[in-house]
Amino acid sequence: MDLTLKAYINDKNSKAHDVVKSYLEQAKKLNSDYFSFVRFHDDYIQTHLDEFASKPLKAAPIGIKDIILTQDSITSCGSKMLENFISPYSATCFLNLEKNWGLMIGKTNMDEFAMGWSTETSYFGKTKNMYGTDRVPGGSSWWSAVAVASGACIAALWTDTGGSVRQPAAFCWIVGMKPTYGMISRYGVQSMASSLDQVGVMAKTVEDAEILLKAIAWFDERDAQSDPRADEFVGSEQLTTNSEQCRNFKIGVPKEVLAEGIDSAVKALFLASIEKLRASGIVVEEMSLPMLAYSVPMYYTLMPAEVSTNLARFDGIRFGLQDDSMNAENIQKYYEAVRSAGFGEEAKRRILLGTFVLSSANYEWYYLKAQKAREELQSEFTKTFANYDIILTPTAPEVAWKIGSRADDPIKMYLADLYTIPANMGGLPAMSIPMWMVEDQWEMMPAGIQVMAKRRGENKLFAFGKYVEKLLA
Ligand code: GLN
Repeated sequence: MDLTLKAYINDKNSKAHDVVKSYLEQAKKLNSDYFSFVRFHDDYIQTHLDEFASKPLKAAPIGIKDIILTQDSITSCGSKMLENFISPYSATCFLNLEKNWGLMIGKTNMDEFAMGWSTETSYFGKTKNMYGTDRVPGGSSWWSAVAVASGACIAALWTDTGGSVRQPAAFCWIVGMKPTYGMISRYGVQSMASSLDQVGVMAKTVEDAEILLKAIAWFDERDAQSDPRADEFVGSEQLTTNSEQCRNFKIGVPKEVLAEGIDSAVKALFLASIEKLRASGIVVEEMSLPMLAYSVPMYYTLMPAEVSTNLARFDGIRFGLQDDSMNAENIQKYYEAVRSAGFGEEAKRRILLGTFVLSSANYEWYYLKAQKAREELQSEFTKTFANYDIILTPTAPEVAWKIGSRADDPIKMYLADLYTIPANMGGLPAMSIPMWMVEDQWEMMPAGIQVMAKRRGENKLFAFGKYVEKLLA
């Protein structure tokens, strides 16, 4: 069984009960090949299925990233630190999903605390790309991407701090969308870097992504950054812009994205896609966003600072690993033992980096400077969107690489986020749509095209997304 969300919701004949059972069986079978799920929640499914199946919109099997709290079940964030952590309550986005028509089919695997590019940092094991099982699926939500792409669930909820929804979507030939910052409540979602984190959706089509987003995007007073205008988006029956109106859009392609660091096959495909758009009558112009070139250094200064603060609570007393056999000669030694054993290498690297940039000797030189650069980038975006409706880039500078081939070179991996980070820096909505396949080491691998709009520009984003999806299909 391999349905779109739209088809499932509109289907008057099939029984939710049968569909969920069939997906669950399929997901478990596929898991031995790809390891998309860290856990299946059979008890939860059993308890809720009858209740949900009687709702008008039925119970769609959705994968939930293991960073989103779901009451009374384990949420481990891909970390040993939270291996046995039972969520005391559910995240707002998950409750909204349940209120509509969603049913959690299982928790998907992820890079530890969402930090990674390939899911190689997960404590529980590596997920594999279904287009080449010796390749990474992207990170940190690769599990969701593989789960959706392989047909183990209809769609998935995950988080995007620097590209974790869009990059794996591109690597696995599905749609990945991150909305405007504040559109979906972060309450009950473990924070990585709070000013950049946003819950996003993974689906098979742009329309499915829109349906899913509308189900979960509500204003939530328990999240201080929640957008009071989020409900406007959900409330709009028909988005005001339709695909046909896109013909009047002006599209900008920042020349900085094609300058360096991009794989030649991905670049050629991207340029060919632009020509297709032009041939269909759309105005696509090359323009400049000079600060784009600094977004990776900005991100890797600001993000670790927030990570080091957010992960401070995992000390074995308030939260995290608790082990009485650990050296507890004094409290300092206990913290050290817990944090050394509980966190993986990448988490430790970022905690160290973050603590360094926030220290009084370095704060002005690094952290403050990066904040100023971020403001500069944001004002470039504001000016750009006064002239352009959409900014277009490839989603990632390359296709999925072979498992293990980058594990020892974090700097090279950091560059994988080159095109996705800017949307998080600006709080902009952005979406990755399958572009086509490109050849890499004699294998055909999927690549994605990224569409970005201004803050709260979801209507244009979805309209143009549908247009691009149809044109490039
Ligand atoms: N790859 C990026 C990082 O490791 C983004 C992760 C994310 O969006 N969660 O920071």
